[in-house]
Amino acid sequence: MTSLYQELETQTFRLAVAQFEEAAERLGLDGNLRERLKLPQRALIVSVPVRMDDGNVKVFPGYRVQHDTSLGPSKGGVRFHPDVNLGEVAALAMWMTWKCALAGLPYGGAKGGVRVAPEKLSRAELQRLTRRYTSEILPLLGPEKDIPAPDVGTNAQVMAWMMDTYSQEVGYAVPGVVTGKPLAIGGSLGREDATGRGVTAVILEVLRHLGLEIARTTVAVQGFGNVGMHTARILHEAGAKVLAVSDAKGGVYSSRGLDIPTLRSRYQSHVRPLQECGMGEFISNDDLLQLECTILVPAALSEQITENNAARVRCRILAEGANGPTTMAADRILEENGVFVIPDILANSGGVIVSYFEWVQDVQKYFWKEQDIRDRLHEIITAAFQRTLAFSQAKKVSLRMAALMSGIDKIGQAHTVRGLYP
Ligand code: NAD
Repeated sequence: MTSLYQELETQTFRLAVAQFEEAAERLGLDGNLRERLKLPQRALIVSVPVRMDDGNVKVFPGYRVQHDTSLGPSKGGVRFHPDVNLGEVAALAMWMTWKCALAGLPYGGAKGGVRVAPEKLSRAELQRLTRRYTSEILPLLGPEKDIPAPDVGTNAQVMAWMMDTYSQEVGYAVPGVVTGKPLAIGGSLGREDATGRGVTAVILEVLRHLGLEIARTTVAVQGFGNVGMHTARILHEAGAKVLAVSDAKGGVYSSRGLDIPTLRSRYQSHVRPLQECGMGEFISNDDLLQLECTILVPAALSEQITENNAARVRCRILAEGANGPTTMAADRILEENGVFVIPDILANSGGVIVSYFEWVQDVQKYFWKEQDIRDRLHEIITAAFQRTLAFSQAKKVSLRMAALMSGIDKIGQAHTVRGLYP
């Protein structure tokens, strides 16, 4: 890669590019197109000055990256986390492109982020940070241009502030500029738990494929945020025994299975960390990833399963709730050990699928019943799984390669028929 792009050169970006290059090679993708698609289409770096409650001003670096917009407006979350950097945001934007294409959504891929620890800000500081970040990236945004959503460290309230800032700037309410916002301003029923519901729907398909029964499965979930908590809850409701869950400070474990509804309500009433909730015994994040279980769901950050711990992962199914939790070296080890990996761009696509429904409802100003949303999510995500499984069997490639190849092939076709401008 040329020095112009040195800032992109992080581990996460290298992982995304290495995955892309292997898939592109297998597809025989045109060399010129490869050069273009391994880089973002646009990347904006902004400085976000925030007046802190003590009167001082702190400046936080922020990013918005659009990887590709050949199929429609770009779509992707906004992350508030102390490790956010351009390379990570660019990798996440690239994965969004393949994810949307794989699910058949009329979107390109984007991602944004601010390098900040949101839990250290007051609510007022968080609001000022969100509004200033939004106004700095405003030229890129719009319901027909680029549509943010929540990711690590952001939530429906942050989306409401983003929607309001954009709307104030243009002079009228534009609900369709973000998704994952509260119901009161055009959010969608079923968006809150959509990613977890999607993860569960694909896991149930995989269990059927492998001839396993949900009632006889055990589960470990890393991350107890939007994705992890809802995945644990819905798997528990479906009859699985959830052995362990964790957050950034470690987790809790019970060989008899955790009572997830009680744990969730205690955690949501701000009993933190998890081990203070009075259920199960302490387990570290490292040990959780190595628990013997049927289904392991990493639902926190990227690069959690690497060549250092992959050989000790003892699950039958690895369902990637998080984006990029597994490195390529780890992938090879898991494959040798017979672990069935459900890749991120398939497993966690429920979030962007229901975000798409939210955007359609906002644009049409016509709102759907929750059951319709659940049914349509189920239909789209299980069909994507079945297509990807059939592709992986036909081409004799892993499910991850099949998912990447399917997404990349669609984008390749769009670029080819649109041609190169000018
Ligand atoms: P979140 O902020 O709601 O939750 C993140 C969770 O991870 C928290 O419980 C946090 O304590 C935990 N965590 C943070 N650092 C950790 C560490 N070092 N070890 C273990 N746990 C740690 O975020 P989220 O929206 O649930 O996103 C989680 C993952 O899922 C991310 O990779 C995100 O990109 C991906 N994802 C999210 C969505 C969505 O709709 N929110 C959709 C698709 C993919």
